[in-house]
Amino acid sequence: MVGEQRVLIAGGGPVGLLCAWLLGRRGLPVRLFDANLTPQPDPRAATTHPATLDLLAADGLAGDMARVGLVAPIFQFWDRPSGEKIAEFDHNVLKDDTNHPFVVQCEQFKTAKLLLERLRKLPSVEVLFGHEVVEVEQTDDLVTVEVCGADGVKRHSGAYLIGADGGRSIVRKQSDIAFEGFTWPERFIVLTTPFDFETAHGICFRSYFADPDEWCNCFKVSADGPPGLWRTVYPANPDLSEEQLMSDTAVQARMQKFFPACRPYEIVHRNLYVTHQRVAETFRKGRVLLAGDSAHVNNPIGGMGLNGGIQDAANLADKLAAVLLDKAPESLLDLYSLQRRTVATEFVQEQSIANKKRLEARDPETRRRNLDELRDMAADQTRARQFLLRTSMIASQQRVAAMTLTEA
Ligand SMILES: Cc1cc2nc3c(=O)[nH]c(=O)nc-3n(C[C@H](O)[C@H](O)[C@H](O)COP(=O)(O)OP(=O)(O)OC[C@H]3O[C@@H](n4cnc5c(N)ncnc54)[C@H](O)[C@@H]3O)c2cc1C
Repeated sequence: MVGEQRVLIAGGGPVGLLCAWLLGRRGLPVRLFDANLTPQPDPRAATTHPATLDLLAADGLAGDMARVGLVAPIFQFWDRPSGEKIAEFDHNVLKDDTNHPFVVQCEQFKTAKLLLERLRKLPSVEVLFGHEVVEVEQTDDLVTVEVCGADGVKRHSGAYLIGADGGRSIVRKQSDIAFEGFTWPERFIVLTTPFDFETAHGICFRSYFADPDEWCNCFKVSADGPPGLWRTVYPANPDLSEEQLMSDTAVQARMQKFFPACRPYEIVHRNLYVTHQRVAETFRKGRVLLAGDSAHVNNPIGGMGLNGGIQDAANLADKLAAVLLDKAPESLLDLYSLQRRTVATEFVQEQSIANKKRLEARDPETRRRNLDELRDMAADQTRARQFLLRTSMIASQQRVAAMTLTEA
């Protein structure tokens, strides 16, 4: 019985851990493998949108994320060349659309930690770090993985396998699922500083800067507690090497251009990321299901990648539990693929590319139009609400809820 119901998960990032928790809470047997010896201390995602917080309310998880993170009800758009604040949006306008009319800035390693604490209390869930999935095969009846750990290579079988193993997913590759899309020529630089931009410049915890030369996103995270850290994100010139981009001189020049200061900035982290826009051709192939970055990747402007992954996990766990526990038809898993792939393509890809284009626009007329549109939307409650329904991913969840298999 256990073997017939067991769900295998490749990847113990936030998406894999959430899948394990949501399935384990329903009593399903779960075995999760992660190649790393410990959870990744990675500072990548922080922004968690209202639609996602609504899904994470069970067992106080969203509340715990707010406790260890920062609550950010407001976000701003600025024009870097003129120094003008163009628009400010307050999520409170969504108070009738969500139980969480704000964003929570919670670094993804903290979300992973909160999930691991919960997983330890679930007897049906095994979490195996230091175990790399190296082979995947499936028959009509079961799926089997070969896993390389300290004790050698072992085979494990289950009813289904969730590939939550990130953008380079071995599960996706071994299942011959294409990853369609493109890679941006410019990498994204993240520079983190304790400098307090709110006190110095009136910049709120989530702020976007349009600039025809070089856009910037500026965010606050709570890090190890007050006073917290600020993360600034910029595009990198593709013609320059990592050494050139990351030298102290280049880093200080970049910071000073955006935020002139009389002293050099203290930089506590500097990271460089290759950024893609890709969606898997399907999120289901037989007994293999993809979720999170293994299924879709996008640029981080607007903070939608992990949010989409968490929404995949919640959708998939409901459907897998219905199939395994309530004998619902397996076609529900095709609905998962349809729903989540549609919003990844129509919504997250579209919105994240549009967000980037808005910040980097060069043509003066296009820039003027973009900034006027933001100003006008912020000044009109109805338009501001429509805009925030999209940016906070409530609209995409509504689209998912309205979708049936007949759309396939
Ligand atoms: C600079 C930056 C900022 C971002 N900010 C945001 C944000 O604010 N909001 C947001 O929503 N998103 C954001 N993102 C995107 C977000 O970081 C990703 O969407 C998120 O990490 C995806 O989680 P995941 O669990 O799917 O994959 P990952 O976090 O990549 O985890 C995959 C896991 O799989 C494991 N693994 C890989 N291969 C194997 C294998 N063969 N066997 C076993 N285990 C394996 C890895 O060790 C890893 O632990 C940002 C990304 C970047 C680069």
